[in-house]
Amino acid sequence: MAQTFIDEKTRNKEEVEALEVAEAARETQWEHPSFVGDIFLGKLRTSSILPYAFQTDEDRKIGDAYLEKLDKFLAANLDGDQVDREGQIPDTVMKGLAELGAFGMKIPKEYGGLGLSQVNYNRALALTNGYCSSTTALLSAHQSIGVPQPLLMFGTPEQKKKYLPQFAKGAISAFALTEPEVGSDPARLATTAVPTPDGNHYIINGTKLWCTNGVIADILVVMAQTPSITVNGKERKQITAFIVESNTPGFEVLHRCRFMGLNGVQNGLLKFTNVKVPKENIIWGLGKGLKLALTTLNAGRLSIPACCIGFTRKVIEECRLWGNERKQWGNAIGKHEPGAQKLAQMTGNLLAMESITWLAGVWVDRGTQDIRLEAAMAKLFCSLRSHEIVEQGLQMRGGRGYETYASLKARGERPFPAERSVRDSRINQIVEGTNEIMRLFIAREALDKHLEVAGDVLNPRLPITRRLTALVKAGMFYAWWYPLQWLSISPWPMHSGMGRLGKHLRYAKRTAHRLARTTFHLMVWHGPKLERKQVQLGRVVDIATELFAISATIGRAHGSKEANVRDAADIFCLDARHRIEENFRAIRCNHDSRTYKLGLKVLDGSLLWQEAAR
Ligand SMILES: Cc1cc2nc3c(=O)[nH]c(=O)nc-3n(C[C@H](O)[C@H](O)[C@H](O)COP(=O)(O)OP(=O)(O)OC[C@H]3O[C@@H](n4cnc5c(N)ncnc54)[C@H](O)[C@@H]3O)c2cc1C
Repeated sequence: MAQTFIDEKTRNKEEVEALEVAEAARETQWEHPSFVGDIFLGKLRTSSILPYAFQTDEDRKIGDAYLEKLDKFLAANLDGDQVDREGQIPDTVMKGLAELGAFGMKIPKEYGGLGLSQVNYNRALALTNGYCSSTTALLSAHQSIGVPQPLLMFGTPEQKKKYLPQFAKGAISAFALTEPEVGSDPARLATTAVPTPDGNHYIINGTKLWCTNGVIADILVVMAQTPSITVNGKERKQITAFIVESNTPGFEVLHRCRFMGLNGVQNGLLKFTNVKVPKENIIWGLGKGLKLALTTLNAGRLSIPACCIGFTRKVIEECRLWGNERKQWGNAIGKHEPGAQKLAQMTGNLLAMESITWLAGVWVDRGTQDIRLEAAMAKLFCSLRSHEIVEQGLQMRGGRGYETYASLKARGERPFPAERSVRDSRINQIVEGTNEIMRLFIAREALDKHLEVAGDVLNPRLPITRRLTALVKAGMFYAWWYPLQWLSISPWPMHSGMGRLGKHLRYAKRTAHRLARTTFHLMVWHGPKLERKQVQLGRVVDIATELFAISATIGRAHGSKEANVRDAADIFCLDARHRIEENFRAIRCNHDSRTYKLGLKVLDGSLLWQEAAR
């Protein structure tokens, strides 16, 4: 098992405990190669992106047929503005979606679902999100993280047989992990599940917050603490996942939460008072709940990038129309340089978002790549880039961007919900792991190989003999690995037949080595304290994320026959390279420590004069 990198000297007991529980719940095995995992080790595996893994023709046809039906239905029945204003998805839409099998898109046909591939499922979410983000949140929370997903991964045959057909027909599910006191750190959750004296049931007590679909869910997956066990003389906390039917006595919806966007989402504060569930409703086994939640999120996270794609497509379409139509200072606003620049950047960013999302989706379908890091990066990248696009779209629409859809419509203008797109898209940086937590998660996994090799050397809890043996082993590994990070420059230009894309690919390969060296230098410099250097680690993660996006975009553009796709890829790569260089500069030269100290002063109230200033 890989060693942890927990710097116990500078952490309090509660922090160490939370980290240990989270560490124990990590998926530690890498059964297949990870494209991004290799980038962190200095290897950009071009064979994984050239040729680009396009969806197979057969799978695409299946998706096309379903998307055509879905699109027809949504165009005729779903008014995103009405949902936003009224805070409700109409019953006709819910019924129609159920009839179209939209609640069972990922459920295999043998259980009555549509059995769509990950890519087709994501395409359907992207399409739906072009109409209404609340409706997509409903569908996505239901089957990306709600009961169907953990059941498919870890359910018993009996559980699958009992519940999956219900979901396929339209029973709604929800995923209940977050609590008022625990969000990013679910290891500390307080909801309890105590076994009855005969051991046949569990009694659940506690409160869950912000549970999407929780207000209307028929069946929920609920993470709760079951009695601790003792391992090697130490008490070990147990978190277990339960299937809970919402008609069980003791289950209550205390409040429907309202947000800045996603106004139609049925998200609630839920209370469990002596809710009795049979032991057969445990998914995967006692004590496996946190791992189940994290694993569910690992795969489920790919639906966020798909949602990000849906709305940005519409924003770009609108900006193209408006950029031509609106004339100011004697010219179309899209032809003034800032307008054209926005259009170009939006297009490049959307291409990159699609390239990584569809690639990761195909890798999930093939089952030949480990996509934990790729899914987290896709979520991080797409949530940031898509929000940038909707912000740019709002700006390009000028005053009309700030005006609501209903108001524009009422005064006879072509309405476009630019302001709603900004409100709806912001949540993607928060849910299913905030972007700060995504960076921590990716950084932890990125360092995995180094921890495996050198973790024992840095672990003060181990006896000195074991640390010395580990030092010798680590020395042998780094004696060949480290020089390779300097010596891998090819004497002739590779990928020269790919034009500008070839240049970007060569840059990405060189930069992967540079990133690996930089990460190694940071490890040597900071030792165990590196885990606390979150801003530096964040820069490392952001560079790797851009490299993944550059690689996927080049792969897709190279294999695509679409017009001008190479130009869009070129602009994206140039912008991404710029961001990468900025991050390297900041890793070398920064004022993080002084900034941190000032932050602490703000926190302890030393700058209250500023808040009181008139
Ligand atoms: C609309 C909506 C839908 C949701 N749906 C669901 C759902 O279906 N099921 C469910 O269980 N939950 C759901 N959530 C909860 C969501 O997943 C959490 O909001 C999210 O995980 C963050 O938790 P928090 O809000 O408690 O923030 P906190 O954990 O309190 O974090 C606050 C801030 O501190 C930062 N932070 C926290 N820890 C660290 C750290 N170690 N290092 C650096 N920065 C840190 C965070 O990044 C964030 O910026 C939903 C929330 C919303 C708003």
